Amino acid sequence: MAEVTLVEIKKTFRGRTTVIPNLNLQIEDGSFTVLVGPSGCGKSTLLRMIAGLETVTRGAVHIGGQDVTTAEPCDRDIAMVFQSYALYPHMSVARNIDFGMRLARVPAAEREVRVNEAARLLNLDELLDRKPAELSGGQRQRVAIGRAIVRNPGVFLFDEPLSNLDAALRNRMRVELAELHQRLDATMIYVTHDQVEAMTLADCIVVMNAGHIEQVGAPMELYQHPETVFVAGFIGSPK
Ligand code: ADP
Ligand code: MG
Repeated sequence: MAEVTLVEIKKTFRGRTTVIPNLNLQIEDGSFTVLVGPSGCGKSTLLRMIAGLETVTRGAVHIGGQDVTTAEPCDRDIAMVFQSYALYPHMSVARNIDFGMRLARVPAAEREVRVNEAARLLNLDELLDRKPAELSGGQRQRVAIGRAIVRNPGVFLFDEPLSNLDAALRNRMRVELAELHQRLDATMIYVTHDQVEAMTLADCIVVMNAGHIEQVGAPMELYQHPETVFVAGFIGSPK
């Protein structure tokens, strides 16, 4: 069953620039779906429309069987992790992870349990009292992921979460993200422009180009049977 469905989505900025003319997509429940494509092709815009951070000009967004096209981000069963981490510098790691739950008025005892669970899952137990400035890039990204986990969403949205990290750390975080997906029983929608990341993380890859979808399929399927020259070039096999 599809967890996220996009129906005839069009996106025009300021009434003139159409960046997505007409896009249809179904994302399976529990999948690790990776959106790939060159810079500027509309990946972040698509993710932000799923999150409700950007309106759709036309079309509909369904999450978990509900039409959320006009719903606020907080009323969608999602949590988003950004490339820039977007942590609060004056708050401790624990407070950063806790913050969204406070806003949502989750009871204090419940919040504490969830913060500790997320910290254990992400290897942050020893760091809960630190400020973001006292953390490495990888640790900061874990805090940002922790903040998403405690909200216990059905759908995680990641926008190039590893692109600020060095290559070695990126490899390690990739493994951690794959493990996290196995444990959490959630749908992950992951944006990257990195083909290696896409090939290793995804069970489904969506190849985007200039606001449209070129092909959707399992990594090996795209590799062995690219339907367009663009997909062949992007995924890296000869056509
Ligand atoms: P990607 O994430 O694939 O690099 P984006 O979704 O960020 O691409 O951008 C897709 C296109 O939409 C780009 O041409 C970009 O300049 C344009 N765009 C993105 N956000 C805005 C905005 N707020 N106003 C106008 N144009 C935008
Ligand atoms: Mg982007």
